[in-house]
Amino acid sequence: MSVGRRSSSFYKGFNSDNALDFSKRSSFDRDVMLERVYPGRLILPMLQHHGDECIPNVKIGETVAIGQCVGAPAPGTMAVPVHAGISGTVTAIRPIVLPDGRTSMSVFIEGDRKRTYHPTVRPRNNVNVSAATVMGIVRDAGIVGMGGEGIPAIVKINRAKKFKVKELLVNCLQSEPFADSDYLIIDEYADHVIMGAVALAGSCGVKIINILISKDRKKEITALRSAMERSFSMYSGYAFNFIFLKTRFPQGYYRMVARAVYGVNLEEGECLENRCRAVMFNCSTVYSCWNAIAESMPLVSRTVSISTEDGLLRNVVAPIGTPVSELLDNVSGFKGSSRIIVWGNALTGLQIDNPETTPIIKTTSGICLITDVQDINSPCISCGKCSDVCPVSIEPDKLYMLIKNGREKDAERLGAGKCIGCGACSYICPSYIKLSGVVADFAALKRRKGSYPYSAVGDSEWIDDLALLSADPVSSAESRKPVSDTITLPFEGWETE
Ligand code: SF4
Ligand code: SF4
Repeated sequence: MSVGRRSSSFYKGFNSDNALDFSKRSSFDRDVMLERVYPGRLILPMLQHHGDECIPNVKIGETVAIGQCVGAPAPGTMAVPVHAGISGTVTAIRPIVLPDGRTSMSVFIEGDRKRTYHPTVRPRNNVNVSAATVMGIVRDAGIVGMGGEGIPAIVKINRAKKFKVKELLVNCLQSEPFADSDYLIIDEYADHVIMGAVALAGSCGVKIINILISKDRKKEITALRSAMERSFSMYSGYAFNFIFLKTRFPQGYYRMVARAVYGVNLEEGECLENRCRAVMFNCSTVYSCWNAIAESMPLVSRTVSISTEDGLLRNVVAPIGTPVSELLDNVSGFKGSSRIIVWGNALTGLQIDNPETTPIIKTTSGICLITDVQDINSPCISCGKCSDVCPVSIEPDKLYMLIKNGREKDAERLGAGKCIGCGACSYICPSYIKLSGVVADFAALKRRKGSYPYSAVGDSEWIDDLALLSADPVSSAESRKPVSDTITLPFEGWETE
């Protein structure tokens, strides 16, 4: 193992200090330990990521256990399985509309408070798995990118192999103000992040692991460095590097990373894998992959930062599918709040009116509570600030007008599809024009229709031969017994095909 360092940044976006000044917040009251939330019910949309909806494979009245698959992909689709994070009974299967406008069939589960685990959820002792096995585990665990749009992890692995990437990037750049759920994962599970990174590197066939992190995250850097040192003897064939980046928003987005780390401006249809020969996973995604490998636990929960504009921040671990209302009722300091609820983070989130029927999903890293929404919408004064901050160098004011006037072809020609929905333009606009809502929605629609990078290089073949978990549930105590397996720790003898 070697540990190296680099330092770089892309050139636009926000310094997060400015963002914090803008909100006039006091310093965070930050929890040291992660709280855990045990909701009484779940709403599990079959579509929670960038891709296709899966199909419910349970029936109303059926009992389900923690880790049980309740939704399975149809062959040939870019869907991922969905699993239950509580045990209980399926009470309904019907569509819901997500805050981003997508409609998804959803499985409703009423909890039994027994916390019964599915028999397939059991720790693996002596882990020694092949690259192909890791790919199967990651695929069947329904793991998607947990820091952004939610690209299925198996799609990225396949893409890494297809383009013969040389480096694996672990994205520890959580730059949204008021969000630090990823940092809590590093603080508490740095070893798991490092082991997950090695597992993914092995499955992608690379030996270089670069940790991307803001240089001011001293505590997390120390935790990761210690984890690397602990694993030195196990992973001596791997080279670890820290790449330190300046604190800017939205520095973790793949286009910004391409520019900051490789000096490359990705064009339409290009991605890190095919242009920079690198594959990137968010650190929470990496942690979840390790959980799936070591514990056979599919992606059933995630950390969520819950924050208010007056400085209260809690990081909680909640089952995916927890209704936002239950999440808030179960976390100290938020029960009964009458504030406006933002589903997502401060700059990129969406206001919701129905927290009882809106769940957190695999990509929800934050919930923000605010007291006021600026709804002034004055005329544009052509100050140019929105273009100055746009990290993908498009002109939000022009695109906003074109889209509003139905000139979609012109908007596309001027690069509207590049918008990453960072919210920086709306944030900076002195006229409070909701630029990002219009431009980002337009770009998201285009991406869903397949016009942009992640559908441009044949991702639809990845899901064939999906082996779904289907055994009957057993009691919690019984299901937690370790099983003998062919797998041994540490990872050795990777088969990289
Ligand atoms: S146009 Fe899109 S990418 Fe540019 S600042 Fe606005 S939201 Fe961000
Ligand atoms: S920041 Fe607002 S006012 Fe200034 S050019 Fe952009 S849209 Fe117009």
